[in-house]
Amino acid sequence: MTTSLAEPTYDLSRFRDAIDGVPIIDDPILVRQRSRDFFWYSPILKQLLNDKKADLVVCPCNEADVVRVAAACARYRVPLTPRGGGTGNYGQAVPLAGGIVLDMMAMNGIEWLKGGIVRVQPGKKMIDIDAETIPRGFELRMHPSTKRTASIGGFVAGGSGGIGSITYGGLREPGNVQAARIVTLEEQPRILELREADALAVNHSYGTTGIITALEMPLAPVWPWLDLIVAFDDFDAALDFSQGLALSDGIVKKLVTPIAWPVPGYFKPFKDQCPEGMSIVVAMVAEPFLGWVKFLAGRHGGSVTHTAPSRDEGGELPPVYELTWNHTTLQALKVDRSITYLQSMYPADRVLALVREINALFPDELLAHLEFLRYAGRATAAGLHLIRYRSPERLAEIFAAHEKRGVTIADPHVVTLEDGVRHKRADSDQLGFKRQVDPYGLMNPGKMRSFVPEVR
Ligand SMILES: Cc1cc2nc3c(=O)[nH]c(=O)nc-3n(C[C@H](O)[C@H](O)[C@H](O)COP(=O)(O)OP(=O)(O)OC[C@H]3O[C@@H](n4cnc5c(N)ncnc54)[C@H](O)[C@@H]3O)c2cc1C
Repeated sequence: MTTSLAEPTYDLSRFRDAIDGVPIIDDPILVRQRSRDFFWYSPILKQLLNDKKADLVVCPCNEADVVRVAAACARYRVPLTPRGGGTGNYGQAVPLAGGIVLDMMAMNGIEWLKGGIVRVQPGKKMIDIDAETIPRGFELRMHPSTKRTASIGGFVAGGSGGIGSITYGGLREPGNVQAARIVTLEEQPRILELREADALAVNHSYGTTGIITALEMPLAPVWPWLDLIVAFDDFDAALDFSQGLALSDGIVKKLVTPIAWPVPGYFKPFKDQCPEGMSIVVAMVAEPFLGWVKFLAGRHGGSVTHTAPSRDEGGELPPVYELTWNHTTLQALKVDRSITYLQSMYPADRVLALVREINALFPDELLAHLEFLRYAGRATAAGLHLIRYRSPERLAEIFAAHEKRGVTIADPHVVTLEDGVRHKRADSDQLGFKRQVDPYGLMNPGKMRSFVPEVR
């Protein structure tokens, strides 16, 4: 894989003159900081991306600023990498060809909330969206475990799903993104309103298909949520309980996460709630259904070790969702830098058998962590197993063992869309759309491998 793109040839001073008045950051330390994300989760990407940075950070305050910047980038052929909270995992927000990072966090207003839909600017943090919509009876259908720091624009452009996906599926499922407004990267930028299926052109495209300036997101009714941890003597029982809970459609929930010992040992603030040697299931369930969860847990020999009202901030302990999804790996990395991870999806009809079969192949090397979710209408599980890293070759062997058994892998150790996604190629609609909205190939160059600009 190559990450070194051709030496940039643009004239930065003319570009700067053209965007005069739009806030910029040129302090080299800050520019380097804002050129990075959480790529260092991967020992492979850590080596590849460590020296990559933009020349300048530009911080638009409104859509008119975005249009000016897009026009100037097109005119002077300056690469542009959009950025939200910078929590992406695969170097999604790391510029490979210099140019500018477009920091969208100042565009953070809610435009309207009506009929269960919120229209919001891309730089709004998800924690702040919920803070404004919950008093009106609605909340985001799903959010990543980075809810407290990540932006809604970054989630739609870079994320896949998270807390809530056990009920609503992934972001890409029909109905989970209602509309997106984008600015194209042309000398005379166009503003496009993409509705329903058309809006998927900007989902998980790593900021290569237009600059998002507004999103319409469907919301869910608010429940009084509980944070729960249920402990089990062995992981098999935790798995059985998790599947039972995942399949119980009557129990209102948004998180079902089985995690095998020794991983809970990494959760330092939750030491008392994660008994030595026991596997756990982290869950978020609506308060009226606690009795049902205890009933199901009892059937599988589990005991509830933690119950607290879910709070993004101000609780005695952090929210339990920060033990789940890609936070599980982060908690482990805080203690052991040799840990890395994989991303997989189990076929819905064989989840438990395949998890057990694959775990048995890599004892002490693959540390089990699954997220139950709905995928295409069926309850299944994604594997975000931790791995005691040995080498790229060993990682490839572990991936091959999954794929041989029909478990798909989304590789988190590569920077391109095509290599990272499960279907191994750029979505043809996204590729075609990119030609329309970024004809010079200036948006996050190097991330959509199959795109070749027709004009220079
Ligand atoms: C600890 C941890 C936990 C995580 N948990 C989850 C999880 O549960 N689920 C999940 O899906 N992901 C998860 N992620 C990945 C990431 O946090 C999420 O995808 C997050 O929503 C990204 O938001 P951000 O604002 O940080 O985006 P950034 O990292 O800043 O950007 C992500 C991508 O979106 C593009 N982008 C940003 N803003 C715009 C815009 N306005 N227009 C066009 N493109 C744009 C960027 O160029 C980049 O390619 C996790 C990451 C970490 C480090």
